[in-house]
Amino acid sequence: MAGERRFRGPIDLHTHSSVSDGTETPAQLVRAAADAGIGTMALTDHDSTAGWFEAAATARTMGINLIPGMEFSTRVSFASVHLLAYLFDPSDAGIVAETSRVRQARLVRAEQMVERIGADYALTWEDVLAQTTPDATVGRPHIADALVARGLALTRSEAFAGILHWDAGYYQPHYAPDPLRAIELVRAAGGVPVIAHPATRGVQDVIPEARLKRLVEAGLFGLELEHRENKPAAKARLYELAAKYGLFVTGSSDYHGAGKPNRLGENTTAPEVLEALIAQGTGSEPVFG
Ligand code: AMP
Ligand code: ZN
Ligand code: FE
Ligand code: FE
Repeated sequence: MAGERRFRGPIDLHTHSSVSDGTETPAQLVRAAADAGIGTMALTDHDSTAGWFEAAATARTMGINLIPGMEFSTRVSFASVHLLAYLFDPSDAGIVAETSRVRQARLVRAEQMVERIGADYALTWEDVLAQTTPDATVGRPHIADALVARGLALTRSEAFAGILHWDAGYYQPHYAPDPLRAIELVRAAGGVPVIAHPATRGVQDVIPEARLKRLVEAGLFGLELEHRENKPAAKARLYELAAKYGLFVTGSSDYHGAGKPNRLGENTTAPEVLEALIAQGTGSEPVFG
């Protein structure tokens, strides 16, 4: 029955809407998840909570549970680390300040990348703006869409494998906080932090144990080990570390609509993990649709 506090499966805790770089509005995304038979979903746009309200309203009408979330961009030297954050207070001053700073840095960085690409290809900043919704968190996927619109790539994936790849010469990083600081901010805002897709590189690039230990001490809840981009050897190593440090393991799709091959519910999270996550999240309320 709608509104009952039920931990309904399948549980998919990582999805993107057009508030960041997904291709569907929050309402369309929630409808797509309900149609796909998902029982509980999290909306986790990059560095933004702007989709929460619309997603919650749709979840209530569609009878699907919604966990409000975000994928926080963080960085360790040149490596980008994504931190999923759930059930935090979206008006928390620390979160608001840091996410605005990251979104602004992403915008400047995207403009600079487009300027460099524009020196070699017929691409302008206006082309990219035409691919974003107002106030969207801008990322390489929007540049990819502009390249596709210009006929310079066939798909987002092709653009990522070519012009947007870090070794093509146009890639540029952007400001993002250290993961440790992001975890502290999320916990201070009543939220629950999980490292997104932590095994996408080789086993030798897995987060060093000493650093993981510090993140656990700062309040890390879990690792998103069931994700299509995680590599088997690195994932196996991280399962060992998760067991050793009492970290929860999540699984999710990282659905971006038509922008990526990832399908809703292709990886899922266990109900008892969701229950623990909800028990620890005190900054905002899950929606039991
Ligand atoms: P950025 O944060 O601006 O560097 O862009 C990274 C985003 O691009 C991530 O959210 C990914 O989901 C997305 N992305 C990475 N590779 C691909 C790909 N091959 N096709 C579509 N989207 C991708
Ligand atoms: Zn994305
Ligand atoms: Fe990510
Ligand atoms: Fe993501």
